[in-house]
Amino acid sequence: MTGQLKQFVPSSACLKCDGCCRFRLSDSPWRPKAGEQELQEGTDSQGYVKTIPQAGHHQCIFFNKTDNTCEIYVQRPFECALYPFVLSQTAKGLEVYAHLACPYIQDQEQSPQLQEYVTYLKEFFGLPRIRSFLEINGSLLHDYTSFQQELKFLFTIEV
Ligand code: SF4
Repeated sequence: MTGQLKQFVPSSACLKCDGCCRFRLSDSPWRPKAGEQELQEGTDSQGYVKTIPQAGHHQCIFFNKTDNTCEIYVQRPFECALYPFVLSQTAKGLEVYAHLACPYIQDQEQSPQLQEYVTYLKEFFGLPRIRSFLEINGSLLHDYTSFQQELKFLFTIEV
């Protein structure tokens, strides 16, 4: 849908982690939402990926717990591809944050690699096709202001 988004976290780190794609609450605000035309099935009436209870948490129905992979990786929603970076529609505008819950982000928070990736993300969000995607998919945009303590502000997307 939005083309290939370069990933910041190497798959070797993701595959060893037990964080993503599992949520503490069935109605967790961190569940990804699918945009228009992203997923034909597997989402609830609000567009969130459906989850199933699993070992004390709620796991995305597309998550394969045997090898920590996503069964629809190539077609996964934009929000999944963007993570551990998130968009937050706040009173100040459309802002981009890193989610400090991600152990790799914690390790790399002060690294030049993160700064380079932020530069890449700024260019990415300036692309006309991404602008258009965000305009069409306003329903994806949450306000994560109440989660500031677990977010690192990166930049505001100029509109
Ligand atoms: S769609 Fe894939 S990447 Fe997204 S939450 Fe589900 S399993 Fe994880």
